[in-house]
Amino acid sequence: MFEKILIANRGEIALRVQRACREMGIKTVAVHSEADSEAKYVKLADESVCIGPAQSNLSYLNVPAIIAAAEVTDAEAIHPGYGFLSENADFAERVESSGFVFIGPRSESIRLMGDKVNAKRAMLEAGVPCVPGSEGALPDDPDQILRMGAETGYPVIIKASGGGGGRGMRVVHTESNLLNAVSLTKAEAQTAFGNPEVYMEKFLQNPRHIEIQILADEHGNAIHLGERDCSMQRRHQKIIEEAPAPLLETKLRNKIGERCAAACRKIKYRGVGTFEFLYEDGEFFFIEMNTRVQVEHPVTELITGIDIIQEQIRVAAGEPLRYKQKELEFRGHAIECRINAEDPYTSVPSPGRITQYHAPGGPGIRVDSHVYQNYYVPPYYDSMIGKLIAYGDTRAQAIARMRIALSEMVVEGIKTNIPLHQDLMTDSAFVEGGASIHYLTHKLEALKNKG
Ligand code: ADP
Repeated sequence: MFEKILIANRGEIALRVQRACREMGIKTVAVHSEADSEAKYVKLADESVCIGPAQSNLSYLNVPAIIAAAEVTDAEAIHPGYGFLSENADFAERVESSGFVFIGPRSESIRLMGDKVNAKRAMLEAGVPCVPGSEGALPDDPDQILRMGAETGYPVIIKASGGGGGRGMRVVHTESNLLNAVSLTKAEAQTAFGNPEVYMEKFLQNPRHIEIQILADEHGNAIHLGERDCSMQRRHQKIIEEAPAPLLETKLRNKIGERCAAACRKIKYRGVGTFEFLYEDGEFFFIEMNTRVQVEHPVTELITGIDIIQEQIRVAAGEPLRYKQKELEFRGHAIECRINAEDPYTSVPSPGRITQYHAPGGPGIRVDSHVYQNYYVPPYYDSMIGKLIAYGDTRAQAIARMRIALSEMVVEGIKTNIPLHQDLMTDSAFVEGGASIHYLTHKLEALKNKG
């Protein structure tokens, strides 16, 4: 096992990885920007290194500075967390060629899955069903594009092959808008991701977002840890996730889970990963794979009893998986609310100083957060300040516990989306379970119109 790991991230995930390492007796190195030098989790690490100014491109995305920090601290491995460099194949390669272990998949797997067109092709070959649409990237010829639109059937969605984080997507309802939408998305994709390639999918009207968590080692073993429902989204970004997915039959769960595990074995995948699907009328359609740990991993941890970060570290160190598929049991129900520093209804970020803070507790409550009273939420990064997770024997109990926890939680001095979560925990569509990915957008629009 590693003796020392450098954590190339910030905020709650940096703290989460640090906790996993400490439990395993591994020393930690926190790298941080100037904006994060006072953060408590940085002080809690065994060592810390400032890697640059506040702007991410000069610090958390500064590859030479991170590698140099690993060198001076004698770290053996680098954990990238999520976001930032976690799905950057060049970074993974650079880490390995500098003599460190990248805690994640091989760079070839990251590269394959980071290009969504290639990922879909690989998944089709591995027998995983995909959303219907263009086979591969869209051609330049406008007539061909129009023909594909007609074949796919409107509405369609144009997506950037290199896209991520809910960006680089455009819905097209009629043929007359198609060509314009394609050129706009291409231009945006070039600017945002350095890759102008786009593809077309049928825009599903009423799907849920259901994803499968997998865990694989480098000895050819791969298992799935069940699914999560992440349908509560705004601007294609998740705000509530839960496991298991409500109203999903065990047989269907096992079937799609097995497919994903088999696909991992086929592409020789190592590490943790997530297969994301849209689920409509009993059918799963693959949309993309994330080759890193996800924000919402705790809900799976709570229903499986498996520490996903620790297992990720173990397989990166070359250990074989410690679990067999048939030994796994999914118990109870877990729900996660992402607590964001933002206006609850417009989602406009609200950085600043937290003047009052109180974290909830009690049976079945877990809070993964790096913030505290008097913490300053910097304006430079993602607005998520923590995750509130509730576990119960049943979904109803998890919701009840979440309601209590939300009512206890105090975050003052900045705006947060806690009121929206409170609203959703009593929303009849959420409580019933199985709402589609478009539900929250429609609800927020209705609230806005009401004034
Ligand atoms: P990203 O990598 O940016 O997260 P994804 O491909 O995972 O992009 O899509 C993000 C979200 O966008 C999905 O969870 C879903 O809400 C919506 N979306 C993506 N593709 C489609 C589609 N074909 N039909 C309807 N909604 C879609």
